[in-house]
Amino acid sequence: MIKSFRLQITAWYLLLFTVLFAAFSLFLYSVLARDLSRRLDQSLSSTARTAAGLFGDELTELKGDAPAAAAEAISELGLRGMSIAVFDGRKLLASSAPLENREWFDMAARAAGGAPEFHATIASYGQNGARVVTHPFHAGSGRFVLLAAEPLDSNMAELAMVRRVLYLAFPLVVLIAGVGGFLLATRSLAPVRSMADQARHITDKNLNTRLDIGAAHEELQVLADSFNELLSRLDQSFETMRRFVADASHELRTPLSVIRGEADVALARDRSPGEYRESLAIIQDEARRLSRLVEDLLNLARADSGHVSLRVEEFYLNDLLAECCRSLEAAAGARQIDLECRCPGDVAFRGDQELLRRLVLNLLDNAVRYTPAGGKILVSLEAATSELRILVSDTGIGIPPEAAPYIFGRFYRGDQARSRQNGGFGLGLSIVKWIAESHKGTVKVTSEPGKGSTFTVQLQR
Ligand code: ADP
Repeated sequence: MIKSFRLQITAWYLLLFTVLFAAFSLFLYSVLARDLSRRLDQSLSSTARTAAGLFGDELTELKGDAPAAAAEAISELGLRGMSIAVFDGRKLLASSAPLENREWFDMAARAAGGAPEFHATIASYGQNGARVVTHPFHAGSGRFVLLAAEPLDSNMAELAMVRRVLYLAFPLVVLIAGVGGFLLATRSLAPVRSMADQARHITDKNLNTRLDIGAAHEELQVLADSFNELLSRLDQSFETMRRFVADASHELRTPLSVIRGEADVALARDRSPGEYRESLAIIQDEARRLSRLVEDLLNLARADSGHVSLRVEEFYLNDLLAECCRSLEAAAGARQIDLECRCPGDVAFRGDQELLRRLVLNLLDNAVRYTPAGGKILVSLEAATSELRILVSDTGIGIPPEAAPYIFGRFYRGDQARSRQNGGFGLGLSIVKWIAESHKGTVKVTSEPGKGSTFTVQLQR
């Protein structure tokens, strides 16, 4: 089995070419042989007609002496290698050469019996046989038969020469085709080789490199384009990963340095129990932030790996919303925000209850954080036959239109300073988006700066 693709293509090309060339040579040879034979027959017929005409004239001139007329016509004709014989019925009148062969008489008898003009090959004539025309005709008051024969020698010589040319040309042409095929295959596969060489040099450090195969054919261009698209996607994923790690490290650094700073200050000298308690409270607060951040990061990392399997169960979505509202009531109350949960009767849903609780809590948590005192938050549930919509509206600070496309991105914070103070990491909405999408749903926002925002989560039932 040939391993090299280039050699395989060459071999197939050569095989096909050889078969085609052999078939073409055979066809050409047989057409030539048939044409030579046809032309010989035509020339024989025309000679026979001329000879018959001459015979008729001589017969009139010699007053019906058929043998003499036949001999005269043959000698007048000037035969150039042909043989002619004239018969009266089965009786030979005259011939250009002695007739050694019975076949001449048989053919004359066939024509005398009424057969029209016909051609035949006599094998036992000269070296290569001869072609004969049997031409019956009327002259004077009688019916005669004229036979004209020409040896096949010159036809055979011509065909032998053609055969020789083909035998010589065949290996030469096959050799040229083989070399040509190999060069063609090498040329056609050159872009593939170039792609492989270029691809070999691509690592995670230069994923922005793209394969260049110049002005290649469409098929190879498609291959190169697909590979380049794959590189783009990989490049993007790597970039996202790099940014994610950088952002995560940045976010982790702040609470860690607060904890370390607070501990350093507390341990620098002896402190009163009140001061220790104060330091520990700060450390506890930052540690809580840290664990929330780590939990968020873990969730997103799991989402990216695609290994999260939903724990699907049936539950009442209205109950879940009511529970979420209850757990944020105190926080909302502390900020003098009116929190209302407007849910219809039992709305059963199949999904991951814990993830959906996380989704609603994230939206509610944002609503509480971004709504000033005296504001209002409304949580509602709309249920149709095929879909459900969870709406969380607030009368908060709203989102500027230029920020709207980015709020679902990781580590995006509308106002860095304020959000940091509020305790957000910019991960809440990306988790909301991931949970909605993992339930084959969507999340959208409509907002007006200064007036409030409405987040709508749409889920399939
Ligand atoms: P964060 O932890 O900063 O809240 P999120 O991913 O939850 O991160 O939200 C991203 C950004 O979207 C926030 O920093 C904020 O600017 C904006 N945002 C989210 N929810 C609201 C809301 N209800 N009202 C106004 N802005 C919001």
